[in-house]
Amino acid sequence: MKVSSSRFAGAAERAGEEPRAPGPVVVLAGRSNVGKSSLINRLLGVKGLARTSSEPGRTQCIHFYRVNESWYFVDLPGYGYAKVSLARRAAWGPMIDGFLARYRRQLALALLVVDARREPTEPDARMRDWLEAGGLPYVVAATKADKLSGNERAQAQRALAPVAGPGSVSPQPLLVSASTGLGLAELWRYLDQALEAARRARPG
Ligand code: GDP
Repeated sequence: MKVSSSRFAGAAERAGEEPRAPGPVVVLAGRSNVGKSSLINRLLGVKGLARTSSEPGRTQCIHFYRVNESWYFVDLPGYGYAKVSLARRAAWGPMIDGFLARYRRQLALALLVVDARREPTEPDARMRDWLEAGGLPYVVAATKADKLSGNERAQAQRALAPVAGPGSVSPQPLLVSASTGLGLAELWRYLDQALEAARRARPG
């Protein structure tokens, strides 16, 4: 897809604060500091659109980015960061559940963003189970793959394979990099397909 415009469209901390323009939604979920902001910036070709966090886990808002005035990237708050207070962590689940319930009909795809250099983590597996339980189509994007050698990439692909369950629309996790652009053409193919399918299902 050609990105002709993208803009920050708002942040929501509680229900009702979300922007309400129509169109499909692509959500990004992942651990704090995994590289979601960097991925959004690189996919949209705009440096600094999504804030890359120097203080991971601090922002517990859902961030909305409007693309081509027709669909949204939605950055969910990063999970699994130890310094987030217990109360905040307890609030995470209901916040995301509520969001997804409200946006259910607009959801085109979820990107489950994991770190290509790490073994799959418990919170990632929980997120995956939760996407599966909700019947949400998703792609596992294993980012920071530029930090791995060719051999290590093959190893990472094997280690991360179990994260992509039956609901994954790609047969395997995609190794990507926001730094070099590795794997992003393939990721765009999944995004384009999902957005197209969402538009066919709900024209206008
Ligand atoms: P977020 O908290 O998930 O939004 O993560 P950020 O996008 O803020 O990234 C966290 C850190 O990882 C930053 O220092 C980024 O520069 C770095 N980073 C993110 N993506 C990549 C990548 O693909 N390659 C490399 N080498 N570093 C990355």
